[in-house]
Amino acid sequence: MRLIPFAAVSTALLLLATPLAAQDAQAHAEAGLAAAADFPGFADLCDLDMHIRDVNAPRDRSTRGHDHKGGDRKPRAEARDPLPPMQVFDNLWFVGNRSVSAWLYGSADGYVLIDSLNTAEEAERDVLGGMEKLGLDPTAIRMILVTHAHGDHFGGATFLSEKLGVPIAMSEADWQLAERTPPHPRFGAAPERGQVVAEGQRIPTGNGTLEVMITPGHTPGTISPILPLSDGGQTHKAVLWGGAGFNFGPDAGIFRDYAEAAAMARNRAKAEGVDVVLSNHVRRDGSDRLMAELAERGPDAPHPFVMGPRGLALFTVLEQCALAQAARFDTAD
Ligand SMILES: [Zn+2]
Repeated sequence: MRLIPFAAVSTALLLLATPLAAQDAQAHAEAGLAAAADFPGFADLCDLDMHIRDVNAPRDRSTRGHDHKGGDRKPRAEARDPLPPMQVFDNLWFVGNRSVSAWLYGSADGYVLIDSLNTAEEAERDVLGGMEKLGLDPTAIRMILVTHAHGDHFGGATFLSEKLGVPIAMSEADWQLAERTPPHPRFGAAPERGQVVAEGQRIPTGNGTLEVMITPGHTPGTISPILPLSDGGQTHKAVLWGGAGFNFGPDAGIFRDYAEAAAMARNRAKAEGVDVVLSNHVRRDGSDRLMAELAERGPDAPHPFVMGPRGLALFTVLEQCALAQAARFDTAD
């Protein structure tokens, strides 16, 4: 009989002792973290010890003391801390805060507002107040596009819709989620059903046409818009990943849907030449840091939000971390 080296035997024993699903989870998490070098705000998605809550399950939230955001939630005091509104591209403005982002897309001839912040108060202060500081006219907003039916994105929508007389748009799946979401002590009631937007729908604005991409996972009908951008003479294209957190319960099937959507988005982004990736939380995409860099940008310096093809790695982070969590909760093995 041939002698087998001790190290080989112990490795084999270790592999035998580790269930296949756990090895699979570890491998995907390592792939996700390797891709996350430029995306530190998304790396926690690959945390295999993360507690996975389910904020989409209908329940009485009146007795719950916290909202739906991820494990490393910022203290409330910081969440209330405003960020200065800013023009980020010729046709894109940030009008959010440190807790949640709202992006204004288009021109004075017509804007789409993407998301509406936590509450009416924040929408009034940061969206309307922000536009006023920037010298922009809120009556040029044509639509409030809500990326997904969670309170931190729709909280200010009813107020803005009524104030400006404009529709609220979401995907069909997320209108259904909104309809089964009870009023929340912080975000209030979900908006009344408004416009439905569908995969591939093109929404014209005063400058640039936004395209709806639906990326199920974070919610059943999360919208991740594709935004053609301009910066002086240069054109760019962004994907705004509409819902990042893993807070839909320990359901391997949903994690697989999420991974599939991320892979689809990567292919799509590659085909479209996407070179900017955005989120609707600054703790994810680091927009606060990038806007600070943009404010200091020299005349011929590159735009800090423009990553080029490196930006596509975000979709690998999202896909691999979702596959890692899927394997963690896969009961088939
Ligand atoms: Zn959410």
